[in-house]
This record gives sequence, structure tokens and C-alpha cells, in this order.
Amino acid sequence: MYNLLYYQIVVQLCVTLTDLECDHIVKVYGSTSADSVNSAAEFQQQESAAGTTNNRRRAGQQQQSSSQLGKAMALVLSQTSDLSHLRRDCIPSTSSSAAAAAAGSSSTTSTNPGVFSATAIEVNLKSMELQLQALCLPFLRVAALLRQHLYRHEMPEISAPGLEFVRLVYYLELVTDSMDWDCFNASKGLCFIPGTETTLPLFWCQQLMEVRPPADTVRELVLINQHSLWQQPRLLELPREYERLFTYYHERPCLNCYKVPKESSICLLCGTIVCLKQNCCAENDCCEAVRHTLSCGGGIGIFLVVTSTYIIVIRGRRACLWGSLYLDDFDEEDRDLKRGKPLYLSKDRFNLLESQWLSHKFAHTKHTWVFHRDLL
Ligand SMILES: [Zn+2]
Ligand SMILES: [Zn+2]
Ligand SMILES: [Zn+2]
Repeated sequence: MYNLLYYQIVVQLCVTLTDLECDHIVKVYGSTSADSVNSAAEFQQQESAAGTTNNRRRAGQQQQSSSQLGKAMALVLSQTSDLSHLRRDCIPSTSSSAAAAAAGSSSTTSTNPGVFSATAIEVNLKSMELQLQALCLPFLRVAALLRQHLYRHEMPEISAPGLEFVRLVYYLELVTDSMDWDCFNASKGLCFIPGTETTLPLFWCQQLMEVRPPADTVRELVLINQHSLWQQPRLLELPREYERLFTYYHERPCLNCYKVPKESSICLLCGTIVCLKQNCCAENDCCEAVRHTLSCGGGIGIFLVVTSTYIIVIRGRRACLWGSLYLDDFDEEDRDLKRGKPLYLSKDRFNLLESQWLSHKFAHTKHTWVFHRDLL
């Protein structure tokens, strides 16, 4: 399973390459005969061959971790005519942003994949290795949970985010030998039945090439839906000054009735403006905020009422006035903007609101919940 995951993600990474990068990878890491990807001797040979044909200076420095990924990529590219039906040269290289986010340390990521230089490509491969590891994480986490549940093996402690991949791979015993940190890379977890190291990936590539819905569907599947980095849900990001929020929203029309709502309210889950308590957008005697709560938040809605600064939380058939996220210099609320003092976002309150939402704790907060009777 991990083998397939590895190659799926390799395909996903290949799709982000430019033509030049593809050529480079195939030239440097590709092999002419169908041979073992994992064979170390072969790898050494390739290494020196690459050095002579391309860039002697670099040959010695080439890291094994990059090479293994490079070879896998070359294998995929050579079998899929460079994935030209899926690749779009103009896609901003996801390797930079995602890897930076995932590894937190790959500030050296190549930001200009268009410039053809051996060093840039090498750097890129390193960051791609990190990205590959990050994209493996959701699968490894699930597998680790399963293992823990079935065998009661204690989960490893993960002291830093950068160590999660390696800890999980060892926990799952995908890798059992100890090795130098420099040698470690995601390909170490591959475990093919001897003799299938190349044939199986080749077969997968062939299957990928035989998929016949329009390329767009495949691209979407490969690029977006298959392996992604998950993040916790978040509330809408709010500006520090209330004035900015007010100026931006108070004259904005509702996209349902095209009128400026009397009590403009913003859904903090998606940013939609709703006509709070108004008939214009009511349907079947159910006002817009309540309806929006069902469609957007599955029954939980959090709205910021622009004219009053207040947060209204709707939970099923009840609602409460949660309070304001914006406070003045003396940490006081200014409900309905009566005093007109500058108000600033209270990070603490925002975090509290967000954590109550994420942990489904609204029911346990000390607010007065009233039946809204669909009138919000
Ligand atoms: Zn919404
Ligand atoms: Zn409306
Ligand atoms: Zn309306």
C-alpha cells in the first residue's frame, strides 16, 4: 500500500514540473534499461554517468535522498510521455509553498523553476522529498492509529513536526534498519516483492495512461483530491481594526436579494452576507441566517452583525448573543457602536470562539440560549 502511495505522490509531484525540469530529471535519473530502482550499485553508476554528461561539479554532492526520488520521477515520466496530458507548466510549483509549510525549514526551495540550473533542480528535489513526506502523513497517521488500536503498541512521541514522518515510518515498521539521517528518505519505506521494484510501478503508469475520462478529471484527481495536506477548519480571518471591517461590509448588498441588509451579518464560516431577521430573504417563514446555518454550518452558525459588532451563534433551534470580538483600548465592548471608539480585534476572544466551535462546546457555554423560531 505504501508503495502505491509513494508512486501516486510521485505522479502528483511530477505534474508540477516544467518541461525543462522533466527533461533534466529523465536525463539525470532515468535509465535506459528496465532495471531495479532500488539497486544501490546501479544508482552509483547512474550517479557518475550523470556527472559526466551533465555537471561534473555536482556529481559528488548529489544526495542519495534526492536521487531515489529523482529515479522514481524519471521512471514515471519516461513511462507516461512526461505526463504531458496532465502537466501544466504554468501551475505555480506547489513544491515551494507546501513544502515550506510542511517542513518549516525548506527556505532554500527553488522559487524559480523556470530557470534551468542544475543546483536549482537539486534543491527542488530536496524540497519535493519533504513535500512527498508531508503528503504521506495523512495515510501514515491513519495506519498508525490502526496499528495502535489493533496491537496496543505505544505510539511514538513526536517532538517536532519535522520528525513525524520518520517516527511513523519506524513505528509502522516500514523501515526497520537504523541509518544516518542523511541517508533517510521516503523511498526507504518501499517494500516491493523482489523483482517487482520496477515492473509494478511500470504497470501502474500504464494503468494511469489508460484512464480515459477527459484529462481535466484525471488532473483534478491527481492534483487536488488524492493526497492533500489537511488543515483544521478555521473561522474567517478578521481585520484588526473594526473600522476596516465596517467600511468593507456595511454597504455591501446581499447576493440573494441584492439589497443592502438592514442588519448586515457575515457568516464567519464562509463570509457570506445574510439579511438577519429580514423578510426579503426569508423562505417558508425561515429567515436567511437560519437557512444559511443549515446549508453552511450543518446547524451551527456564527454570524458577526456588522452594525452592532456582536456575534450571534445559532445552534439548531436556539441562538445566543455570544458577545463581541472587538474591544476598545480599555478592553470594553461597544455594542451597537454607540460610543464610536476605535475597536480592535481581541485575539483571545477570537480564539475562544473558534475553539468552542471546533470542539462543539457551544452547548456548555454560559450564554443565554433562546429559541429563534426561524426569525434570525
Ligand atoms: Zn456560511
Ligand atoms: Zn439576504
Ligand atoms: Zn435580503
